[in-house]
Amino acid sequence: MVLAQLGGSISRALQNMSNSTVIDEAVFHDCLNEINRALLQADVQFELIRNMHANIKNIVNLDGLAAGHSKRKIIQQAVFDELCKMLDPTTGIKSSSFFFPKKGKTSVVMFVGLQGSGKTTTCTKYAHYYQKKGLKPGLVCADTFRAGAFDQLKQNATKAKIPFYGSYMESDPVKIAVEGVERFKEENCDLIILDTSGRHKQEAALFEEMRQLSEATKPDLVIFVMDSSIGQAAFGQAQAFKQSVAVGAVIITKMDGHAKGGGSLSAVAATKSHVIFLGTGEHMDEFEVFEVRPFVRRLLGMGDLSGLMDRIHKAVPVDQQAELHQKLSEGNFTLRIMYDQFHSLLKMGPINEVFSMLPGFSAELMPKGREKESQMKVKRYMTMMDSMTNEELDSSSPKLMNESRMMRIARGSGYQVREVLEMVEEYKRLANIWKRFKMPKGNMSALSPQILK
Ligand code: GDP
Repeated sequence: MVLAQLGGSISRALQNMSNSTVIDEAVFHDCLNEINRALLQADVQFELIRNMHANIKNIVNLDGLAAGHSKRKIIQQAVFDELCKMLDPTTGIKSSSFFFPKKGKTSVVMFVGLQGSGKTTTCTKYAHYYQKKGLKPGLVCADTFRAGAFDQLKQNATKAKIPFYGSYMESDPVKIAVEGVERFKEENCDLIILDTSGRHKQEAALFEEMRQLSEATKPDLVIFVMDSSIGQAAFGQAQAFKQSVAVGAVIITKMDGHAKGGGSLSAVAATKSHVIFLGTGEHMDEFEVFEVRPFVRRLLGMGDLSGLMDRIHKAVPVDQQAELHQKLSEGNFTLRIMYDQFHSLLKMGPINEVFSMLPGFSAELMPKGREKESQMKVKRYMTMMDSMTNEELDSSSPKLMNESRMMRIARGSGYQVREVLEMVEEYKRLANIWKRFKMPKGNMSALSPQILK
């Protein structure tokens, strides 16, 4: 999960507001100020913060609220909606105009960006992402500017078992690109990805080379790759690339561990560019689909249930899915369900990314770089649950877990009673969160988006 600190600060501001006995103008004001400070620290443009602040104040009219309305809920919902609005690059663009590679149809996707932005790494991640979806990708290295570019692509491609094309001798990028595209068309690739050269700064020669490559290969989509560490400067860079080449989508890289991530993401959104993925690390799988609402939900530790359900669908054997649907739709979050979920989650990896999709697990609780620790914790809980009786596992009443039962479980699993208590508390917390969801029968991805309660 990216931008953990920003998400944590906003969640804390909302929590502090919720903890107040009375929510009046002063409490509301403090909450908004705390949120503003968090956004400023994440390098979000002042103008955007000011707009967001004004919009929230317009929506939330504390004096005018009829009795019975939950002020807390209305404020939380307004903050959530305005954050989504600020990060939504697709405002005013029809989603049907977006391009997605498809199986059985050859598409050419050209990557552009400055040197060091993460273009070559991202080409492979993108190819790998669609390869996992069953498409047949091919990577073409049309970067003849940077020494070593071909070797890097070749190395990445080999690791991911993706066919590649390039040349050590040829210096004309257009010639290599055309040959590569031809080759992969003959091999019936569904997705031909063109890695192009960058420059250290935006310059005419780069844009001219991109224009020639685009004319020769007629890509279905041009993706602009940008490094998030440039923060607010992302606005100018995204505008410049959009004006020079027919950029259809943007991928923002290095969202892991950069305080300026919030700045770059909101700045790119302000140019109305369609951000499709975020790069969140150097590894192949550290690549997230970018969709505003699930992103903000995860940012605020509210979970991304539809993303999680996607993962569960992939990891839980098909014959067990219906049963899980049934239990959750009845609102029965038992310890056995927690056990089964942990079991599935361990297979889904990377564990912290999966956990951040679970409501109640903010990225701050499961920090990046501490995956091993999280994994150990899950395994520890599972060992304790192995010492439980069927009655304990299948009961949805936490009251059943009394002291003597916990002592027995501690003895049986070799853990301390306080550790068993911690596991039971974790279960109660999760059960409480899951209870708030209306789990529709049959369709787990159509979950109620309302967790702000
Ligand atoms: P190019 O010159 O644009 O092709 O950039 P590269 O793909 O060679 O990437 C430059 C550096 O950024 C390499 O060390 C990559 O491993 C690293 N990199 C790329 N994407 C990410 C990312 O999302 N997160 C992090 N932390 N590093 C990245």
